[in-house]
Order: sequence, then structure tokens, then C-alpha cells
Amino acid sequence: MEQDYPVIRVAVPVPLYGTFDYLVDPAASAPVGARVQIRFGRRPLVGVIVATDVESQVAPDKLKPVLRVLDDTPLFDEALLKLLRWTARYYHHPLGDTLATALPAALRRTRTDTESTRNRGWQAVADAPAEAEAALTRAPRQQELLAAIRAAGNAVAHGTLLARFPGAQRPLNALTERGLIEAVELPGGLETGTAGTPPALTSDQQDVVDRLRTASGFAPALIEGVTGSGKTEIYFQRMADVLATGRQVLFLAPEIGLTPQLIDRLRSRFAAAIGVLHSQRSDGERADVWKAAGAGEADIVIGTRSAIFTPMPRLGLIIVDEEHDGSYKQGDGLRYHARDVALKRAQDAAIPILLGSATPALETLHNARAGRFVHHKLVRRATGAALPAIRLIDIRSRPLDGGLSDPLLNRIRPHLEAGNQVMIFINRRGFAPALFCHDCGWSAPCHRCDAPMTVHGAMSRLVCHHCGSTEKAPTVCASCGSESLIALGAGTQRVAGALRSHFPDVAVARFDRDSMARKGRLEAQLADVASGKTQLLVGTQMLAKGHDFARLTCVGVLDVDGGLFSADFRATEHMAQVVTQVAGRAGRADRPGEVWLQTRNPEHPMLVRLLGGGYPGFAEAALAEREATALPPYGHLALLRAEAHEQRYPHDFLTAAADTIPLGGELACWGPVPAPMARRAGRYRAHLLLHASRRALLHPVLDRWQTQLAELPAARRVRWSIDVDPQDLL
Ligand code: ADP
Ligand code: ZN
Ligand code: ZN
Repeated sequence: MEQDYPVIRVAVPVPLYGTFDYLVDPAASAPVGARVQIRFGRRPLVGVIVATDVESQVAPDKLKPVLRVLDDTPLFDEALLKLLRWTARYYHHPLGDTLATALPAALRRTRTDTESTRNRGWQAVADAPAEAEAALTRAPRQQELLAAIRAAGNAVAHGTLLARFPGAQRPLNALTERGLIEAVELPGGLETGTAGTPPALTSDQQDVVDRLRTASGFAPALIEGVTGSGKTEIYFQRMADVLATGRQVLFLAPEIGLTPQLIDRLRSRFAAAIGVLHSQRSDGERADVWKAAGAGEADIVIGTRSAIFTPMPRLGLIIVDEEHDGSYKQGDGLRYHARDVALKRAQDAAIPILLGSATPALETLHNARAGRFVHHKLVRRATGAALPAIRLIDIRSRPLDGGLSDPLLNRIRPHLEAGNQVMIFINRRGFAPALFCHDCGWSAPCHRCDAPMTVHGAMSRLVCHHCGSTEKAPTVCASCGSESLIALGAGTQRVAGALRSHFPDVAVARFDRDSMARKGRLEAQLADVASGKTQLLVGTQMLAKGHDFARLTCVGVLDVDGGLFSADFRATEHMAQVVTQVAGRAGRADRPGEVWLQTRNPEHPMLVRLLGGGYPGFAEAALAEREATALPPYGHLALLRAEAHEQRYPHDFLTAAADTIPLGGELACWGPVPAPMARRAGRYRAHLLLHASRRALLHPVLDRWQTQLAELPAARRVRWSIDVDPQDLL
């Protein structure tokens, strides 16, 4: 009889709040935290058991049986499930989709549950014959690989090597035949590091480490240290402390910050099992690291945003490097902020958490000022190198060539002549941000977005940076027929071209998403910078962090003005962070650096504060401004977004949503208004902004919405989502 079967409750990855009951075979081991395959409507889906022995409200003959139990032991432990329940509640996102977001992709599917990647790895043969190595003089690829394998420590995963050295299979085979390296089996996606000797800490670093060591239990600390002040060494010291007690460490880094350099540094410091989670790893490798961490086999897990959801039963320390970085906030689906989830996780586990940055987020500084975080400051570089001087170049009424002013070109020249390196930062890829008609003022629009198309490849192609549409660039104006079309403004491609024509004898390298599309290209270009072959670097954010360029003595920033006048209330904060981070690339070692900002607004108060008082001075002024306008961290926001192919549907839905809110007092509701980009990828977008002076006022409204919005008739015509603590209002 079916109704005698036990009932389990399952969180299913569908856009519905709530969980669903199923019958399960009494003989099967089906614990909370295990995955099951179930039929939902017509589709077979993978869900997670969140309760067993359920007394269901559903009539027994209406309950469906699970198709298959996929794990006989929990994939999510109790602590992680608790964290994810909190995450779903805080961000007002369905639990089933929250759990699916936490899982590596391979474990979201039904088929790969027992499959595992073959965790091949390579290690150097200790007593290899000297002749074999001598014979490598004419095989530079093999030399390079051998060096990388030796530097990596005991063994390095095959996948990791291939990501860094595309096409390495043949040289690896050759090295094996020569008896210089050998293949080894690695445990589930992990790598083994080698013990290295740390440098003697500076007294500033030692002070911070000493103070950190006095804390116990949940102890959030902000380490605000100028670029190169040795924050990473401080993390490493604390990691060593925690690893020595047999506990695990979770290290989060932003997508761009998780560079091979950082991973190498970790590998050559800790004789520990290290799991690396980032976008370059295969689904199978990620799933293996996840499982190994959950089984307690990984000592250290280092990864980007989603790594915050890695199960770690012996977790003893969380580090969030570059805590201000925007990539910690997910921009769709479950819109969580990994730093904020990390704080909750550390609190639940009663362990320390270190937030590090040269340019902390204003929210984080506010928390530190309020005494919620212990605030440690490092104002000097660990190597003793001086911080670069930041100065302005006023470009009002100056002609620009490919975005570059004459004074900037003149500043660059002596650095190049002295054999040093120069970096030009511009946060815009492509050739130019618009194709413009000189006669009538028309500019080529994207047909699916309210935005101009970006010119790519010297006037040949138009690309929309918002929806990805591409088309051939027109030769005549669509409005007046004129042939005087000009590319207005500059992006990385144009800047690189202009630099090549001004400095024909110097090698120029471009770093942006377009030029890095090919795997391994970034590493190859960075190697040319490290060897000194490349003297001029042009790039976007990608250049802002994580890289040590010993010979870089001059940095030019071309587009600070964009950050001064933007619809986005965080734009000035981001501008100040980027300028400070980019400036931090200059003069790292024994060569002093200088930084030049091109601007048409040399008197802008925020720019003046940044130059006069550095990032701390800027942050103080910016916090005062936020306080005056009651914006975060002095007010709390939630954004209800809606979009549809017809303009009126989002508006109708948001109006109905607004009607459900009891107004007055300290809760305000702004909108509905069209989003700053009112149409994107063919959809009309609008939003409703909730503003509360206290967070506690916001969440009851969101709770109510969670049950009411889906039932609104207007909801069926739109795609909608709730964004708690939105990073931008775009
Ligand atoms: P941050 O993380 O603050 O940018 P890092 O820890 O990466 O700083 O250190 C910056 C540079 O200074 C690195 O090249 C590092 O090897 C070096 N460094 C850090 N601490 C010391 C120290 N105590 N003695 C010598 N060099 C150090
Ligand atoms: Zn025209
Ligand atoms: Zn578009």
C-alpha cells in the first residue's frame, strides 16, 4: 500500500517558493541533505531532501514516489543546510533554487552522480638523470612545464596544467619518456602543496597577526592595508595557525583576483591538500573538490563567489580577499553577496573571518566604525617601496588621440626610454563607445537595447555590450545619409592602436575580455610582461589587481570622469577603488611610481578628496554623502525588478505590487519607474525601490511579497525578481 511509505520533503529547483512532498521507499537510505530525482509536472528534476518522516498535508493518493535517491549519505551537511536556508530567506529566493545554486553544476544533473573525473596529476621525478634534463636545452616548452611542475610542489593536477599551458599534452608525454616527470593519481580534485618558508614579518604585519591571535569565536576583522602592504602574508600566518589545529580554511578571492600567482603562492607555502574552485575548472573537477571538501579531505579551499557554499565540516577560518569587489555579488538568480553570506557562515560556526582590502567597501568601513568588525590598518608597503604619487592632467579643451592627451604621452615617454613599463587603464573594451554622424548627431543604436552600439575592430563591426548583438558597421548615416561617420571616444583597441603609432619600437599588449577569450592567453601575456618583453600594457579592470609588475613605474587612467557623473549611486566609490587599485600596480619594488588621471573635472570634490586624503579620505567624504542621502549603509534597499516584451506589463505588475505595501513611517516605496536602461535585449524593464531606515522594516514586506506577488494576475505577464541589498539600480 502506497500510503504506508514514508514521506520526505524536497526542495526542487523551480521558480516557486515552497517545498514538495514525495513518497520514498522505506528500504532506501534517504537522509536529509541527499539528492533525489523526482518528477515535477512532466519534467524529471534533481531536488534535495530537507525533511524526512513528514506528516504531509497532501492526501496520500496524491503523493508521487521519488524516482531515485541519488546519494545515500548527505551531500549537504546540517551546518550548510542551515546557512542555505538563511540565504534563501534573507534574499527571498526559493529554497530549491538556492540549493541548486550552491551545488557544482555536475551535481545538479542526474547522470553524473557516481562519475568522477580521473584525477591525473604530474610530479617531478626526484632522482632524474642529469643527462635527461641537459637534453632539454632545445625544448623550451618542456623546460617551462618541468619548471612549473617543480614549482608547484609535490604534484599538480593535469587539468590545472592544461589550463595554464594549452596543448601541454605532448610535451608532458615527452617529459615522461625522458624520465623527468611521472603521472600520479590525486585524491578527488585536490592538489598537494609544499611547505615553504615565510618571510620574517614586518613589525606592522606582526602587530596585526598578534592582535588577530587574541580573538576567539566569531571574530570579524577588517584588514585595510595599502596595496603591497603584505595582507596576503597576514592571511597566510593565520591560515598556518588554523591548519595546525587540524581545521579547514576557506579562502575567497574575486574572479580577477584569483590569479595563477596567488594559487602558486599558496601551493608553495602549505604542505596541505588544496582545492581550487574557479571558472576555468571543469564541472567534474569542481564536483570533486566540493565532495572532497565535504569529506574533510581538503585542508584549504580557494575559490570565487560560489565557493562560499562549499561544505567544510572542520571549517576554522574564512578569508575574503578584496572584500570590496563587485564580483562577490551575483547579478541574477539567487542575488547573494558572498561576503555577507561568509559573515553569516563564520558567525554560525563561531570562527574568525578576515576581510581584506586596500579599498574597503563603504558598508564594511561603516561596520568597522560601528565596532562590529575589528579594524586593522597597514599604511606602509611591506617591501618598503614608496606609494606612487597620484596627479591630475586637465584635458579640458585638449585634443585627444585615441583617448590620450599630449601631456600624458609626454609623461609616458621617459619611463619607456628608461626601460620601465607603463600601464594605461580604461574601463571600456572595443574600439570606441559609439559610431556618430558628424552631420546630424545620430549614433548607431542597438535595436534591442536603449544603448548605442560599441565600435569594434577599427570601424568594421558594431557590438552591443548589453545584449551581445553584432552587426557590420554601416558606411552611411541611417538618419541623414551622410558619409561622415566617426567613431566617438576610445576603448582599449583604439588606445592600443594609438600607443603603437606613438611608440612603434615598444611592444604593446592589450588585456580585456575580448583579447583574453582564448584559454591560456592571459598567462602567456603576463609572462611577457614579467620577462620585460612587453613594455606597454593597455587594459580594463583585469589589470587592476593581483598582479605584481616589478618594472611598472607609470600608470595612466583615462576615464575617471565616467565615475563622477553616473546614475549609479556607487559609481564614485567604484571609481575611487579602481583608481587606488590601479595606482597600486605602480612602483612595487625599488622603482618609484607615478600615476596620472586624465579628467575634465579637476575640481570635482570627490576627486580632490581622493588625491588629498587617499582612499580613507575619500571614504570619509563619501560616507558623509551617503548619510546625508540615507543611502546604504545608512539606509537599506530592496529592488523589485520586472521585465516583459510589452512596455505596460512591468508597470502594471509593479503598480499592483506597490499596492500591497502599507506605506508611511520609515518605509518608503519609490516607483514604479523605468530602469535607467529601459529596454535591454528586447525587453522593457522597470523597477520598484523599497527604502527603509532600518533593515527590520524591510524584510516583513519582502516576506509578504514572497507569498503575494506570484498570485497577482499581472505577474503572469512579466519576469520578476527581488534583489535585496542591490549593488546597482540599473
Ligand atoms: P598585499 O596582499 O597587501 O597586496 P602581499 O602580501 O602580496 O601584499 O605583499 C606584497 C609584496 O611584498 C609581495 O611581493 C610579498 O612577497 C612582499 N612581502 C610581504 N610581506 C613581506 C615581508 N614581511 N618581508 C618581505 N617581503 C614581504
Ligand atoms: Zn546623420
Ligand atoms: Zn543590445
